[in-house]
Amino acid sequence: AEKFGIKQALKDLGLSEINHGSSTGTNWFSNGEVIESYSPVDGALVGKVKATTKEDYEKVVSTAEAGFKEWRKWPAPQRGEVVRQFNEELRRLKEPLGKLVSYEMGKSYQEGLGEVQEMIDICDFAVGLSRQLHGLTMHSERPGHRMYEQYHPMGIVGIISAFNFPVAVWAWNTALAWVCGDACIWKGSEKTPVTSVACQNIAAKVFEKNKVPAGISCLITGDYKVGEMMTQDERVPLISATGSTRMGKKVAQTVAGRLGKSLLELGGNNAIIVTPDANIKNTVIGAVFGAVGTCGQRCTSTRRLIVHEDIYDKVKDAVVNAYKQIKIGNPLDENNHVGPLIDKDAVKNYQNALDKVVEEGGNILVEGGVLDGDGYESGCYVKPAIAEAKNDYEIVQHETFAPVLYLLKYSGDVEDALKLQNGVRQGLSSAIMTNNLREAERFLSVEGSDCGIANVNIGTSGAEIGGAFGGEKDTGGGRESGSDAWKVYMRRQTNTINYTTELPLAQGIKFDL
Ligand code: NAD
Repeated sequence: AEKFGIKQALKDLGLSEINHGSSTGTNWFSNGEVIESYSPVDGALVGKVKATTKEDYEKVVSTAEAGFKEWRKWPAPQRGEVVRQFNEELRRLKEPLGKLVSYEMGKSYQEGLGEVQEMIDICDFAVGLSRQLHGLTMHSERPGHRMYEQYHPMGIVGIISAFNFPVAVWAWNTALAWVCGDACIWKGSEKTPVTSVACQNIAAKVFEKNKVPAGISCLITGDYKVGEMMTQDERVPLISATGSTRMGKKVAQTVAGRLGKSLLELGGNNAIIVTPDANIKNTVIGAVFGAVGTCGQRCTSTRRLIVHEDIYDKVKDAVVNAYKQIKIGNPLDENNHVGPLIDKDAVKNYQNALDKVVEEGGNILVEGGVLDGDGYESGCYVKPAIAEAKNDYEIVQHETFAPVLYLLKYSGDVEDALKLQNGVRQGLSSAIMTNNLREAERFLSVEGSDCGIANVNIGTSGAEIGGAFGGEKDTGGGRESGSDAWKVYMRRQTNTINYTTELPLAQGIKFDL
């Protein structure tokens, strides 16, 4: 790792030997057990972070509550100005932060930089948004009355995030929540705690310089038990949780039990439909990048390729050939396409999936396997695999967070392909490759894809921050990032003002005294 300047990156990001969660503008720290974070790249220790105790958590929430009472009074464009300065720091620290993301999580350095770029983009978006937190005005049914709506800050937003996007998901939430006037408490993944501290350090510096009240950016650290402190806490009106469907179902129940709001961004089982009218070259690029990028650990990774029988063999051969070109190795080395899985448990899940698909009758087209020897000492490097399968296999119905691509064949027309594509519990991302206008429109129509994201002639993986991001069914129904996703971070109030000397009642009701 030293060859790639990790030590310098940690220094540039202000990390120390043992790091703590904290709240901006305060100098108290988390006091729980030490979490050690090991890199899947080379198995070495990335850093140590102390976990948040119940007492620490109480301090965090009371600081955030007090901070919110001040912060909500700042004009939104002034809050936007703080986010603008935070963004400048992100631009300045893009390389060390991208490098740390790559080293602690295992995605390629290019993808690490891409993730920081997403943070930068959402901050730009949020700064503009800080002058556009608009409500509507409505015509009242009563004479001499005016009616309009306004959006007020919500309060404390609890953010729970997954290991695979250790920095972008936090920014998608915080950049918007901050301009909306909320305080944020973030519990990052216990698998990438050092990256979380690096982000908090960047925010803290900018916030302190701008005299933002303490508690507007808070970091708590630890596993699901620390997450549960927030999901159970009535003082946290909104929980934004990104991770597995299993986690989302628990979080949703706990938060609903206290009538809180939750924004859920959960697992996907994304497919590309390839019709006889598809451009095969682009299909192969989209499918292979979608399946092996981030070692198959994106929520939008391509897991199923649904190919028409007329072009099935052609697509199959082209994809299998493309897999021969894939270079697996240290993700900090830009010559490699695919880095490691996050840890050895993920490797086990990957191996189990390959065993299971064979057990269920699948046919392996590209063999998987765990790599060992020089450069692969961490035990987390695996070969991307392809299996011919059926949509109703149990393993195909399931999201395996690894580079395993299932090839499915359809005959008939695009409706038959749509039945397969929609025939899973998850509903995040979907795509169709076709130059046939009817097929494309059918795919996007009310009878088409049931996913939150539906693309034509691009793959399933990756999304721009300008659109609302999220999915349906087991993906949880939440939307974050662009479009009007900001509304979830605010509470809407409808105001009716009577400027007459009378008091007419709604619906023409007479109430004479
Ligand atoms: P995970 O569910 O194991 O953990 C996610 C986070 O939830 C972690 O911070 C964890 O500590 C916390 N957590 C787990 N159980 C909890 C509970 N009961 N209460 C409170 N917090 C709890 O997921 P992971 O392995 O880190 O990430 C992979 C998963 O995330 C995949 O399913 C992937 O599709 C999904 N994901 C979805 C999106 C999206 O936007 N839809 C984005 C990234 C990842």
